[in-house]
Amino acid sequence: MPHSRQPVLPHNTPASILQSVAVLTAQRDRELLARTLVSTLSGLIHSHRITMYRVLPTDQGEEAILVAEACSRTDDASVHPEVHIAIRDRADFNSVFHSGKDSGQQLNNKNWLSVYPIVGEHGVVGLVELISEENSNTDRQLVLALLKVYSNYQLILDESETDTLTGLLNRRTFDNKIEEIIAEHSAPDEAQIGAGTQHPARRKDVPELPHWLAIIDIDFFKRINDKFGHLYGDEVLLLLSRSMQRIFRQRDKLFRFGGEEFIVVLDRTGEENAKGVLDRFRVAIEQYDFPQVGQVTISIGFVRLDKVDVSSVIIGRADQALYYAKHHGRNQVCCYEDLVAEGKLESEHYSGDVQLF
Ligand code: GH3
Ligand code: MG
Ligand code: MG
Repeated sequence: MPHSRQPVLPHNTPASILQSVAVLTAQRDRELLARTLVSTLSGLIHSHRITMYRVLPTDQGEEAILVAEACSRTDDASVHPEVHIAIRDRADFNSVFHSGKDSGQQLNNKNWLSVYPIVGEHGVVGLVELISEENSNTDRQLVLALLKVYSNYQLILDESETDTLTGLLNRRTFDNKIEEIIAEHSAPDEAQIGAGTQHPARRKDVPELPHWLAIIDIDFFKRINDKFGHLYGDEVLLLLSRSMQRIFRQRDKLFRFGGEEFIVVLDRTGEENAKGVLDRFRVAIEQYDFPQVGQVTISIGFVRLDKVDVSSVIIGRADQALYYAKHHGRNQVCCYEDLVAEGKLESEHYSGDVQLF
């Protein structure tokens, strides 16, 4: 990951503070924004070390994942993605996470340790840990104010990335993030598959399972609009996206791709599990009684993510599997790799324009 080298702001003056806000709100990328926040803080206040963590839920409880760190010896906010701390294992993290209030304690006779929450719309989404020589109230007020600017700005970024009707990530976000997702979330070597872990605190030598991309398309949606009107059509889209949020996991990425098309990027899992969760979703929709409209069904095509492929190839393959599902009865889940293995689809490279349903 590239380093972001921010100018060191020499004094804690109104001009330097405003300059920090300007630097911070110039960022569009979340990773860069986090690193800018840390390096900005380290330029504004006297500290030995500032560390920022993102809080993520896991099956074992919340974890603090290190996203950026700055030491007084350097002005860079570097990244150590392998550091994961179980929140409940650190009393100070645990109390700040649950109370939403900052805390401070004497670390030893030279150092003071403070922990600040980053508060999002639905609670604490991050933590900032600060080691400094003194417990300065001026610095504390400055950190609290800057973290407020940061979380407000993060909310605006969140809004610009989501679809207004469903609240899922929007098409623009998909287009901006998909190459990054493929690079980060791509399949490991064949030989490694099957022995992986779904736990986020993975070691480098632990083999990993692949991610999957699924395209979900509502069956005969046009008929719903024609028969009941657009408002009822919109209601179906909204209820379907709520089901998506309930059934898929926190770590799966959910997008509204187009009108009645959705994309899910499934977090690392085996093919059987991927198919299982997608089919569970399909059945949940089939069994749901939509107000006025009644029964609605969906078709799904999914494919394994592989970093050697560009996004248009991956989406094209998922779309081929969806197309197959549509032309063989609808209301079903089809896996691209299975269709190719069964000789039902050609495995040739998908080269045309992506034509979604
Ligand atoms: P198939 O089973 O083959 O997918 O049939 P379909 O009718 O779902 O497919 P088609 O792509 O022909 O129709 C999609 C319809 O979705 C057409 C369009 O009017 C409707 N649509 C697109 N965006 C929205 C939206 O935001 N709200 C509503 N209510 N309808 C939308
Ligand atoms: Mg459709
Ligand atoms: Mg469609």
